[in-house]
Amino acid sequence: MTDGSGTGGSGTGGAATGGAGTGGAGTGGVGTGGVGTGGGRRARPVRVVVFDLDDTLVPQAAWLAGAWEAVAAAAAEVGRDAGIEVDAGALERALATDAGAGSARGGVIDRAVAAVAPGLPVAPLVDAFRSYRAPRLVPFEGAVDAVQRCRRAVPVGLVTDGDPGIQRAKLSAAGLADAFDAVVFSDELGRERRKPHPLPFRTVLAALDADPGDAAFVGDRPETDLAGAAALGMTTVRVRTGEYAAVTGDVTPDADLPGVVEAVAWLLEVAVAAR
Ligand SMILES: [Mg+2]
Repeated sequence: MTDGSGTGGSGTGGAATGGAGTGGAGTGGVGTGGVGTGGGRRARPVRVVVFDLDDTLVPQAAWLAGAWEAVAAAAAEVGRDAGIEVDAGALERALATDAGAGSARGGVIDRAVAAVAPGLPVAPLVDAFRSYRAPRLVPFEGAVDAVQRCRRAVPVGLVTDGDPGIQRAKLSAAGLADAFDAVVFSDELGRERRKPHPLPFRTVLAALDADPGDAAFVGDRPETDLAGAAALGMTTVRVRTGEYAAVTGDVTPDADLPGVVEAVAWLLEVAVAAR
């Protein structure tokens, strides 16, 4: 019954590429190891480091929780004016649940309203979402410090997708407004030029006067952050924080680490030091 042929032939040949763990072939000499660095590639020198914002430096879920609360409060008010009864608590839960299935998808507010308060005008709620400003957004532990430490060694940049007004407000609320030498809000280049489009990456690198091969990108999302940065030839560092922590990606990053603190430590020890 053993057919024999076919199994195993192609596809398994990657034993040598390893990936997990330390010290794949060719990384030798650095010796810092750490979680999941490698993939067998040698750490290249890094002259600048560019960060993603949401779920890399700040928890997107925390921002969204406040935003949904604001949207639900606005809905109660709009409902009063429109004579539609709105259960604000139920709407807030519906918003959070829908966003939990993928917060970057559009239409979260439309779907939650359709489910909980059908007939309620949606436009004022979208306005409430866009104009929501958290007084404070607590970054991931050690994140602000890590960016500062990195900046003492090399220039640092940021590339973030999303409504620029909202993203700016997040930076301020997180105490990161002045933390970077260059900031690119990709939506200002056109919504269709969000990561992984090369333009926001090229724009920040131009502002930092660096070539892609001299730069590292630190981000949480394989299909946007890592794919875009890798396509340009940047060193890629994945962080496993937030909504996409468990998502499988096509790109094997140069380092795959628990969070931004470890990412900066790796960059400073391995990549920057290799200059
Ligand atoms: Mg992100």
